[in-house]
Amino acid sequence: MKIQCDFCYHHCTLDEGQSGICSVRTREQGRIVTKAYGNLVALAVDPVEKKPLYHFLSGSKTLSLAMPGCNLACSFCQNYTISQSSYHQHQGGESVDAPLLVSLAFERNCPSISFTYSEPLVWQDYMLEVASLAKSKGLSTIMVTNGTFSREALERIFPLIDAYNIDLKGDESFYRRMCKGSAKPVLDAIEYLVGKKAHLEVTTMVMESEHDEDQIVALANQLAARGVQVWHMSRYFPRYLATDPATSESYLQQMIKAVSSLGIDYVYAGNSDLKQATFCPRCHAQVVSDRRHAPIHYDKTLKEGRCSACNQEIYGRWPS
Ligand code: SF4
Repeated sequence: MKIQCDFCYHHCTLDEGQSGICSVRTREQGRIVTKAYGNLVALAVDPVEKKPLYHFLSGSKTLSLAMPGCNLACSFCQNYTISQSSYHQHQGGESVDAPLLVSLAFERNCPSISFTYSEPLVWQDYMLEVASLAKSKGLSTIMVTNGTFSREALERIFPLIDAYNIDLKGDESFYRRMCKGSAKPVLDAIEYLVGKKAHLEVTTMVMESEHDEDQIVALANQLAARGVQVWHMSRYFPRYLATDPATSESYLQQMIKAVSSLGIDYVYAGNSDLKQATFCPRCHAQVVSDRRHAPIHYDKTLKEGRCSACNQEIYGRWPS
């Protein structure tokens, strides 16, 4: 009899010895297990802004880690050597347990642990083991994901992850052509997490050759309708199988302008030389300094998460 994996929207059904679309989840002795559980292919300390999260523990560092694997196949993947099975299946990786990661986070002055770089959905059992211990010790947890959750995964993961960055890559046709995926589970997850008041920021990598202004405006309208408040629009650069030319600064600027009055309060440029400061949505005072330059300042402009000039609440979790 086949057994179903519920880690993502694919819901693969597996016979003995078979692996799912991600190549990470596999059926062994009647159970579905995660291959090379706990073997990390990346472990680093990053500024939290690199996830990108601009409204969550701003200015702090985060212990960032990845096991290999992904459930999509984006032709432009920026991390294909650890996400795509034809590359990562020969990598050894180092086995690291949850207590060691938690002590490393404290040692390196990181108030959070981030599950990032590849797709944590396909190794969510390990992520949840680490996140559970991290939260019990007072650390925050961050998931950077393509957002193709199953409903079961969303309900399982939500209590243990404090902040999310979800990629919304394009419309349904873009997902089918470029990613062997679907936009629907991503939009459903965004709606669920906003409804649960989770901290959420969304990222879209803008491809000048693929995303025209109408498509970008349609994405903005979908995000605004779901109550998303922070959107990172980052420049595409050719990588992996994608050879389209890099997105120009002027095109990114034009797209940001096109969505500026559509109801998303905080829209940022990414992979870009454009300014990345935060402005109060009510009085337009600058409340957080330009993220391109460390250290990040907000001590005089933001008091307990509110704009010092007009007292407007600024979305996010700000260190006190
Ligand atoms: S994680 Fe997703 S792609 Fe991988 S086996 Fe489970 S349902 Fe399939």
